[in-house]
Amino acid sequence: MISFKDFNFHPDIDESIDAMGFTKPTPVQVSTIPIILENKDLIACAQTGTGKTAAFLLPVLQKIVEEDDFEGTKLLVIVPTRELAMQIDQHLQGFTYFIPVSTVAVFGGGAGDVWDQQKSAIASGVNIIIATPGRLISLINLDYLRAENLRTLVLDEADRMLDMGFYDDIIRIITKLPKKRQTLMFSATMPPKIRQLAKKILTSPEEVNISIAKPAEGVLQGAYLVHDEQKPALIMDLLRDKPELKSILVFSATKLNVKQLYRQLKAQGFSCNAIHSDLEQHERVTVLNDFKNRKFQILVATDIVSRGIDIESIDLVINYDVPSDAEDYVHRVGRTARAEMTGVALTFINSRDVRSFKNIETLIDSEVHKLPLPPHIGQGPEYTVSRGYTSDYPKRKGAPKKGFRKDRKKVRKDQP
Ligand code: AMP
Repeated sequence: MISFKDFNFHPDIDESIDAMGFTKPTPVQVSTIPIILENKDLIACAQTGTGKTAAFLLPVLQKIVEEDDFEGTKLLVIVPTRELAMQIDQHLQGFTYFIPVSTVAVFGGGAGDVWDQQKSAIASGVNIIIATPGRLISLINLDYLRAENLRTLVLDEADRMLDMGFYDDIIRIITKLPKKRQTLMFSATMPPKIRQLAKKILTSPEEVNISIAKPAEGVLQGAYLVHDEQKPALIMDLLRDKPELKSILVFSATKLNVKQLYRQLKAQGFSCNAIHSDLEQHERVTVLNDFKNRKFQILVATDIVSRGIDIESIDLVINYDVPSDAEDYVHRVGRTARAEMTGVALTFINSRDVRSFKNIETLIDSEVHKLPLPPHIGQGPEYTVSRGYTSDYPKRKGAPKKGFRKDRKKVRKDQP
């Protein structure tokens, strides 16, 4: 069995690993750390929750410390969202407690003074930059980036970045970096477009595949077949009288749904809050921190928090709607059972979502157990893919078919 000692890290790094409470490396760390220490390029298929952040930060820090060279920007980490940037920065604060490296997280949406701090940190050659593509491009346009000393580029959640349309930005950023560098690409999935990007920007990369798009071990998954109008009653039922569950994350498809569900839960006296893209950045940070610090029990969220956010020990994840993208299911479920802890993930499937959920089951290569509805909630839909147009309402006279179509359109328009 491999231990952290086998990597021969500098004692200051070993000490920070101890201080973080890590006792043994996770599988992704075991596979990737030696490759990164050998200065090879890497493409790693690993989802959030596998310990991938430490997998790239630790060896890069080791190389900086080993060379005792703290001059200029050595590492650039490009990430899709500000939440992930902040999370990696937090990890870094832990790992660099005993090491004199400087770091900055760079993302949009902050106040003017934050922008000024980011600009001056970058211009002064801060050692490690964690950045979202848009904000970094702005800084490059203003000619602030000093990349001549850069040794390592990390693209984290590369698939997510391409989904968000950052391909051109990434390529532009890369043209500003030294050609001789190590490039590490982490992605939860490996669609062809990721392979193409890898071919373009990596040199003879080693490949590591940890997840194959499966939720981390230890997640108990279950699903309810339920009509939309039964969902509020079912979720109340599941959440009521559960003081032993300290942190519960509920995902819903759109911010409208999130706001509505939040209001319903609040009205029933649940200790809850909501996070969605209408909140200002400082409000999102406060909500996430309060959730992390267990100031309230239930967080209702759109997809913005499903990837990358590092909240430890979530006891229960509920997908109030089936995520339309099968990969998102894996990410959401990945919020629980982090780093080998156990958790539960439950998904509500209405008749329209049966097809999407079957796709998820194909992707994760297993059948999720379908749980019976509590009797007072009534009968749910069948687990069969409906052909052509169907209503999700239970069959009864006058089911509002037109309204359903409108509703569906609204859902599409109002993606998170
Ligand atoms: P990540 O996949 O990088 O988002 O990491 C998921 C979580 O696992 C974070 O809370 C890390 O602090 C934690 N973690 C990472 N490596 C280890 C390890 N070797 N032992 C225990 N926890 C870890």
